[in-house]
Amino acid sequence: MAVTVETHPTLTEAAQAMARGDAVYLGGGTGVMRLINAGVIRGRVLRVTDPGLREISLSGETVRLGAGVTMAAVAGHRDLAILHPVAGTIGGPAIRVMATVGGNLFAPHPYGDFATALLALGARAVMAGGGGTRPVEEVLRDRAGGRAGLVAAVEFARPRDARTFGWHKVSRVKPKGVSVLAIAAVLPREGGRIRGARVAFGAMGPAPARAAAVERVLEGQSLDAATIARAAEVAAEGFDPPTDALASAWYRREVAGVHLRRLLEEMA
Ligand SMILES: Cc1cc2nc3c(=O)[nH]c(=O)nc-3n(C[C@H](O)[C@H](O)[C@H](O)COP(=O)(O)OP(=O)(O)OC[C@H]3O[C@@H](n4cnc5c(N)ncnc54)[C@H](O)[C@@H]3O)c2cc1C
Repeated sequence: MAVTVETHPTLTEAAQAMARGDAVYLGGGTGVMRLINAGVIRGRVLRVTDPGLREISLSGETVRLGAGVTMAAVAGHRDLAILHPVAGTIGGPAIRVMATVGGNLFAPHPYGDFATALLALGARAVMAGGGGTRPVEEVLRDRAGGRAGLVAAVEFARPRDARTFGWHKVSRVKPKGVSVLAIAAVLPREGGRIRGARVAFGAMGPAPARAAAVERVLEGQSLDAATIARAAEVAAEGFDPPTDALASAWYRREVAGVHLRRLLEEMA
């Protein structure tokens, strides 16, 4: 079957066209184009020309990134400094000018570095066609069955200071390699105690996920050596990491605590 590309002016129209039957949405195409070239994706491919999808806006401390914003745009934006280390290590420059925020939410394991950061930031996805907003966590959960829908943008509150947000990516090729694992943490502190800990792991399962056991250990504590040691002990709890060409499941479980400890020490 040949590939037919449909161009729509808005995401809402693309969502309606999607509902008419089997079709694949094309973001920046770093994943989809590979699958088209390999003959895995055939039939209808939908693209959207709305420039609004590439908008970055800040209102107070709320950041809104259109789904079509690229990693290069994030890495080059002066008000998004906390996300520079995340976006700046996704692929090489040629990937970053194409790879989008929306596409990263749906990129299969071991991809999803940006989605891991969004998960820790408590981001919400703005759904296409007036579908309201949903936690990114739900989108990541529903994407497996193709039930997530099209994402128009993501929104999150920018952490108050750089020390509140931490990012640690483990890869075999530096600085642009694919993640053996990735960790993002948001640790707001009140009176020296962590309030509202959010820690997410990437490449430790089919999709980025929160480390609930780690968050429980950190909540209400000061980020001292004893707390960090306890958090590192439970790092892999609740995760069933895959074995792939980069690392075995055993290896990922073994090193998760080591890398979490390093990240938390940097954030202390
Ligand atoms: C050489 C190479 C290196 C890479 N390195 C990394 C890396 O280090 N870290 C990393 O995380 N990823 C990496 N990737 C994967 C990929 O480039 C990124 O995850 C990228 O962000 C995907 O975005 P895209 O716009 O290209 O997605 P596309 O390929 O266009 O789409 C990917 C999937 O997302 C869906 N999709 C796209 N946009 C939307 C939307 N708005 N709403 C709903 N569904 C949508 C598509 O239908 C498709 O299923 C790499 C890829 C390559 C080829």
